[in-house]
Amino acid sequence: MRHLRYLVAAAAIAAFPLVSPNPYFINLAQDIAIAAIGAIGLNILLGLSGQLSLGQAGFLALGAYGSGVLATNHGWPLWATLPVSLLLSAVAGGVLGLVALRTRTHYLAMVTLAFGYIVEILAQRWVDITGGSMGLIGVPQLNFGDFQNGAANYFWAIAATLLLLQMLNDYAMRSRFGRSLHAIKESESFALTVGIDAARWRSLVFMVSAVLAGLSGFFFAHQAGYVSSDAFGLDRSIALLIAVVIGGLGSAYGPILGAIILVILNQLTAGLYEVSYYIFGGILLVVMLFFPAGAVGAVQRLFGRRAGGGSGAVPDASGAGAGGTGAGAGSGGAGATAQTGDAGGTGASSTTDGAAGFSFAAPATGQGPILELQDITKSYSGVTAVNAVSLKVMPGTVHAVIGPNGAGKSTLINVISGLYQPDSGSIRFMGRDITHLAPHRRAALGLTRTFQNLQLIGTLTVAENVMLGLQRGSGFARGWLRWLASDAEERDERAEALRLLRFFGIERLADVLPGDLPYGHRKLCELARALAQRPTMLFLDEPIAGLNEGEAKEIMEKIRGLKALGMTVLLVEHNMSFVMQLSDTVTVLDYGRKIGEGAPDVVQRDEAVIAAYLGTGEA
Ligand code: ADP
Ligand code: MG
Repeated sequence: MRHLRYLVAAAAIAAFPLVSPNPYFINLAQDIAIAAIGAIGLNILLGLSGQLSLGQAGFLALGAYGSGVLATNHGWPLWATLPVSLLLSAVAGGVLGLVALRTRTHYLAMVTLAFGYIVEILAQRWVDITGGSMGLIGVPQLNFGDFQNGAANYFWAIAATLLLLQMLNDYAMRSRFGRSLHAIKESESFALTVGIDAARWRSLVFMVSAVLAGLSGFFFAHQAGYVSSDAFGLDRSIALLIAVVIGGLGSAYGPILGAIILVILNQLTAGLYEVSYYIFGGILLVVMLFFPAGAVGAVQRLFGRRAGGGSGAVPDASGAGAGGTGAGAGSGGAGATAQTGDAGGTGASSTTDGAAGFSFAAPATGQGPILELQDITKSYSGVTAVNAVSLKVMPGTVHAVIGPNGAGKSTLINVISGLYQPDSGSIRFMGRDITHLAPHRRAALGLTRTFQNLQLIGTLTVAENVMLGLQRGSGFARGWLRWLASDAEERDERAEALRLLRFFGIERLADVLPGDLPYGHRKLCELARALAQRPTMLFLDEPIAGLNEGEAKEIMEKIRGLKALGMTVLLVEHNMSFVMQLSDTVTVLDYGRKIGEGAPDVVQRDEAVIAAYLGTGEA
């Protein structure tokens, strides 16, 4: 399908100038392609990673002047000025990307706005170099060897570049690169815990979007043979933003669709300069109110497809899945539980079945502790949530940490997984000091967690959420080439995700969005995602909170199954009977302090524990 799509696109690009009735349309098509290149960059930045830039015109200007000035005033050939353009915008994008790490939302909007302003003012005032608002005149147009270009040649050059970028974009969006950005956009701490280096990704994306804007500026400069500072005002940044939003934020073909709409609108409102802002603003408002998924979403709705749909097989599969969910919810969750309960009922055999499907690096048991906490203390302003806690977890065991609400259990998990830095104390994992290791590096070591308040990415399907945990596969360039040849990598990843979902009895829900699932199934989905990370050790923060008895039993069976496969589990729980049935060792926290530890039956009889915890009536 995608090969066909690209071939059709290439044929359309090749044919267009030949069948176009007059040069006006070719010029219009150039405008669209130039805008689309910038829009693809902004879409990756805003639509995927959630970072807003109001300064894209600044990068456009760097690309345009970087090449225009060198070619016009210094006679450089264009093949030599192009890298300068890209480099300039990359450097500026990299610097702004570093700023973006410290802020997001409206502050980032202001920083990029200021950047755009500074570049615009420089372009206006630095007349010796840029020609100011009078413009840089006589910018050479693109030519190929001694073959003087016409509008058609230039269109081909821009459109071919756009097609190539679109192919890269399609791969990025459908592979783990796009999924990672979705994760970062929705929850950065979650992204870290599945091993995504969020800071690196975010600054990288900023740079990529700046380079694409610079490339767009380069093409713009050599289109008309004239560059003036008026072209790089705030309205240009806003126009690009409008194109991306109108097209459909975060969708693969939104930027092109948005660029087409934008350029046509520009033509229609060309004579109405004074009111064009109102027209654009009005359209933006209507789109955001009535078509939040943009033009792409509207088109998909027309054809009955889910916005941001996955592979070609999605429509019928998701239909079936949604039906299943409906039934489960309708019978108050009981139906769904019984169903999955059946799957769990085959007990050990289904577990070993699943074992063939995935693996994890179970360390040899019988050695020393796999995880060792030494005097960990963590305070928030005023509250010492964890107070000098030491803990040893033996490999292959289920170790529970219990305690009343506010005892510090979640804080302890956050410290171990690296989301919080302890005030003092040390953490050793498999003999290695990881106290100061970044969370995504701990994840890479096999420390995997789930969250008390579930962290699933709402814009990705259940299967894609599980695939987030995989985070393996080739680098970008190799991945792209392989993707062009076949979809083997995608299929393999999906197959692995489905195996994990089957282990938890929710394979049929693979193509449903997590928001459409009952709570118990979301928990199972998160567990599947955690296992996809091939954990060495699994941290479960209240895995059965909010579940009914049947669902809780099912989770217990699964944890038993994992233990049988050699997994080490650190379990934070509230529910005593669950803990007592499942764990080998229990540690009791109260007000951040460890007040008891031992085998479940011993802890159960411990007087301090009874006084602090069991006496509260929760037992
Ligand atoms: P548990 O998971 O055992 O219920 P927590 O680790 O969530 O306990 O909380 C321990 C204590 O730390 C509580 O008093 C809680 O109010 C406080 N606390 C937890 N997280 C934060 C935070 N991010 N900022 C300030 N206080 C916090
Ligand atoms: Mg908690």
